[in-house]
Amino acid sequence: MKLPFLISCRQSARLLSGRLDRRLSPAERVTLRMHLAICKVCPVFDRQLRLMSRAMGTWRAYSEQERER
Ligand SMILES: [Zn+2]
Repeated sequence: MKLPFLISCRQSARLLSGRLDRRLSPAERVTLRMHLAICKVCPVFDRQLRLMSRAMGTWRAYSEQERER
């Protein structure tokens, strides 16, 4: 029996990085959450991605401010 929410780390990584550009479907979100609950590596990757995207956002806001001056 193959459970639909058991995805590989590679699929999980694709969802995690896809989440930065687009809204995941409810099914994808559940799948991802299930994987993050059982995986030790992907939550770390998730945190790194969030930090990175926040840093990118800050940088973008900063450079836009600079342009207005
Ligand atoms: Zn994983």
